[in-house]
Amino acid sequence: MQAYEYRLSTPKQGMIDITAQVRESLGKSGVSDGICTVFCPHTTAGITVNENADPDVVHDFLIGLDAAFPDREQFRHGEGNSVAHLKSSAVGCSQTIIVRGGLLALGRWQGVYFCEFDGPRTRRFLVKVISG
Ligand code: ZN
Repeated sequence: MQAYEYRLSTPKQGMIDITAQVRESLGKSGVSDGICTVFCPHTTAGITVNENADPDVVHDFLIGLDAAFPDREQFRHGEGNSVAHLKSSAVGCSQTIIVRGGLLALGRWQGVYFCEFDGPRTRRFLVKVISG
């Protein structure tokens, strides 16, 4: 079964709700029970699952990451985006969601987010659904 690929235009930093695209991929796959993996092939972005009801959670999430990963004079990476690399690995580049009865087994308040830490850019993410 194929992986579905999506493109996004991202802001400088932000979390983009991609739950609809993940659900669309699940629908196309026809899988009713299995797992769904969402993968981001970038080193300064990530994929996470978090609350999608109150937009202030996204705001606070980004402020929290800024506090946890401040820029440092000692950083050597010539591109100057070490903080974005740190955030990417902390958040992770993929998420796996259980599929049950043809639906993502997300909690009521959960959504899937693409996290941009070094935009604006055109980004990609992949969705693969496996039956089992
Ligand atoms: Zn870099």
